[in-house]
Amino acid sequence: MSDLKNLYRQVIMDHYKTPRNKGLVDDASYKKFHIKNPSCGDDITVQTKVTEGVIEDVKHDGTGCSICCSSASVMSETLKGKKVIEAEGIFSNYYNMIKGKEYDADLDMGDAIVYSGVASFPARVKCATVAWQAAEESIKDE
Ligand code: ZN
Repeated sequence: MSDLKNLYRQVIMDHYKTPRNKGLVDDASYKKFHIKNPSCGDDITVQTKVTEGVIEDVKHDGTGCSICCSSASVMSETLKGKKVIEAEGIFSNYYNMIKGKEYDADLDMGDAIVYSGVASFPARVKCATVAWQAAEESIKDE
């Protein structure tokens, strides 16, 4: 295993074991979206709070595999503080990366880059994208 792959694996396991921004809040100013990935059993709910075009807060909760749960944590850290318009660029760039398509490696996606290896495992693409899709849906009308 290369050093880079090893580092990526460590980041994924760290987010899996110590998820950031986990746990939903009872607050009507947040928008909520829930997605299930039946092929793996992933079940994720994402909450976002957008104020004046900026993603002020991101929460997530649910159960699933290490890729799914860790990527929810990474997604929450990546999107927090970003403008909705910036987030839209990050979503499409991230999906392209996960699907093995051309993507902009210079775009700041935080730790999300660690999922670049998922492109080699098409069965796990859904796992790495459910949380992001839920977030995307939750900010859709903002
Ligand atoms: Zn999964």
